[in-house]
Amino acid sequence: MIIIIRNQAGSEERAQLMTLLCRLTGNQRPVTPTILSGCEVITLDGSSLDEQAKTLLSQQAAVERLISIKTPYKLVSRDFKPQGSRVVVGDKLGGTPVTIGNTADGAISPVIIAGPCAVEGRERLLSTAQAVQAAGAQILRGGAFKPRTSPYQFQGLGVEGLQMLAEARELTGLPVITEVMEPALVETVAQYADILQIGSRNMQNFPLLLEAGRNSKRRPVMLKRGLASTIDEWLLAAEYIVAAGNPNVILCERGIRSFDPQTRNVLDLACVPLLHELTHLPVIVDPSHATGRSELVPTMSRAAIAAGAEGLILEVHPDPQNALCDGRQSITAEQLQSIVHQTHLIAQMMELSYVA
Ligand code: PEP
Ligand code: MN
Repeated sequence: MIIIIRNQAGSEERAQLMTLLCRLTGNQRPVTPTILSGCEVITLDGSSLDEQAKTLLSQQAAVERLISIKTPYKLVSRDFKPQGSRVVVGDKLGGTPVTIGNTADGAISPVIIAGPCAVEGRERLLSTAQAVQAAGAQILRGGAFKPRTSPYQFQGLGVEGLQMLAEARELTGLPVITEVMEPALVETVAQYADILQIGSRNMQNFPLLLEAGRNSKRRPVMLKRGLASTIDEWLLAAEYIVAAGNPNVILCERGIRSFDPQTRNVLDLACVPLLHELTHLPVIVDPSHATGRSELVPTMSRAAIAAGAEGLILEVHPDPQNALCDGRQSITAEQLQSIVHQTHLIAQMMELSYVA
């Protein structure tokens, strides 16, 4: 259940509401209001509340109205917000702002995020940033903190890598996205990055989700689907970030684990239209990690846009064979250029079909 608090509610009226809520919910957890689109809301699992309790709540002076949401996730659900959300990226750190989301309304084309898996060094990053920009990407990716399966693999350049990303933004104007793996680093990464990436392995790192909600200066968060997560688990992870105070969440489908080692993961494209039914959050697709094979990336990029994805995140490297991380799935800037061209054509065709 979502309780919308009246704008003019006084402190006594609020205190009364809190006391009633504690009584009705048996004090299950502290209730903290969140501000969403200028509206103060309290969200709770209302399944244990009977009709009498709901009437009592709706009669409180501090309450504007109650919205009953049946799904376990509330704030991210389409039932709560029928209009698709748009997330503005890169308007705080001096880059060129980009909007992600709600392409179904036909107003904006899919956003292309591209760059190396990991930041490998200053010169290489700066030249790759220029190359992906020339190829038509609007946002630069690059991992500074890398979640590697083996402790002996390249772990990323850390804060130095963040500084290189900031320099690449200064040079090109491209906003930058990079992964944050631990709560203690959320504030630091938010000083440099326009989007915080929460990786597949951390989708249910709840302290990290809470910190990205509370202390990221409301930087957009791209939440990747867990290696073997259900859609409900994924949406509940997104709910943690939004309920903690940051509404700027973008979902990223990056494939889920299955039994066939031919591809690195299985790209669940049906989740794109399904998510558009269930949630108002923008959805983008990562064909690089989903397939693990560069030769499959162009086809699956086109398919993702045709399925309604609002953007793509692609790994691009100047010399894939010698990349320090994920070279097998990395494409070149030339290949990126052709993907950008094709996906724009597909998006235009779909825009026409929405209008028709
Ligand atoms: C990445 O984007 O570099 C990455 C590690 O992705 P994932 O979390 O999806 O494996
Ligand atoms: Mn990677």
